[in-house]
Amino acid sequence: MNNDLIPLFSAAKVNAGLDFLTPIEAVLNSHWYILGSEVKKFEEEFATFVGVNECISVANGSDALELALRGLGVQSKDRVVAVANAGFYGSTAIHAVGAIPLYVDIDPVSLTICTKALAQAIGTKPAAIIVTHLYGQLANIEEIVNIASAAGIPVLEDCAQSHGASRNGKQAGSFGTIACFSFYPTKNLGALGDGGAVVTSDSLLATKIRQLRQYGWSQKYQVAIPGGRNSRLDEMQAAILRIKLPHLHKWNAERRSIAKRYNEAFAGLDLQLPSSVGEDYVGHLYVVRVKDRAGFIAALKEKMISTDVHYPIADHHQPAYAVDSPLSLKETELACETVVSLPCFPGLTDDEVSRVIEAVTTYFSKEK
Ligand SMILES: *Cc1c(COP(=O)(O)O)cnc(C)c1O
Repeated sequence: MNNDLIPLFSAAKVNAGLDFLTPIEAVLNSHWYILGSEVKKFEEEFATFVGVNECISVANGSDALELALRGLGVQSKDRVVAVANAGFYGSTAIHAVGAIPLYVDIDPVSLTICTKALAQAIGTKPAAIIVTHLYGQLANIEEIVNIASAAGIPVLEDCAQSHGASRNGKQAGSFGTIACFSFYPTKNLGALGDGGAVVTSDSLLATKIRQLRQYGWSQKYQVAIPGGRNSRLDEMQAAILRIKLPHLHKWNAERRSIAKRYNEAFAGLDLQLPSSVGEDYVGHLYVVRVKDRAGFIAALKEKMISTDVHYPIADHHQPAYAVDSPLSLKETELACETVVSLPCFPGLTDDEVSRVIEAVTTYFSKEK
């Protein structure tokens, strides 16, 4: 086994062997760069993939979240439920529309929103609920949708880390009222630049999002609704995503099998492991929880293994937006102090996985 640095993610390995030049050349030769046939085809293919009627591609995942909230009619001073351990992306969108985040604690095992805490928060009549399928793990989305629909509150799924995750054959993004995806290069489906999408089966909502992504236009130069902007996926990225989409399930399976190897090797160690390596988890990040995180990271670094922390600062503690949360966020705060991500991506070799396993088990044998 060699001792080269094992990265947390490698675009070179994920994209190895794919022909991007042919689709890029086709776009070049078409001389049509925005909202053309590649975007149209990608939107149809991605909607079919997710199992919804409509896909509206946009410039990035953050815009997708913001436009989805606008599409749902979330207004200034409305409350929007979100978790506080998911990297502030949902919070950015909530602040962008002038709404107020209502942070709900997480389940300590799945690290996604706690349905009991959500049921309690629902009494405050939030305008929407953002559910993040964090690290590629589907939240308890069926129960969340039940709680939300009983109260008449729309559910927005943030699927930026969970492309292709499914339960009982139903995929992330097809449970809620509306859902958002990011195609940032490190995501399970990543472009060669920025990209994002909003999906829904509600055709009125889809029409609204389509208008919002292009200046609020109902037709050329006619601004029909407020809150519009320019947020479009370009033809080049759409063509690239169309090359990659057919490989997504296979890549997810590869991520899952790496996670499964880790989970089997780490069982019995003083680590909290991902709660599922089944179809409801697509291994976007392989995240464990460890008591002495700094020591653990240092030990792995010494063995040339990259790690990262997703995410170190809870949303309600972010310096720009620090707030006293009205609800307990005890589990959220504990998670922020203990989570650490290990390398898990398509193209990571068996030997590299073995090196990670070796380093982690050695760390725990020395600790005792
Ligand atoms: C990456 C990510 C986003 C934002 O996507 P961008 O395309 O980078 O704007 C939103 N939510 C989650 C959970 C993400 O991981």
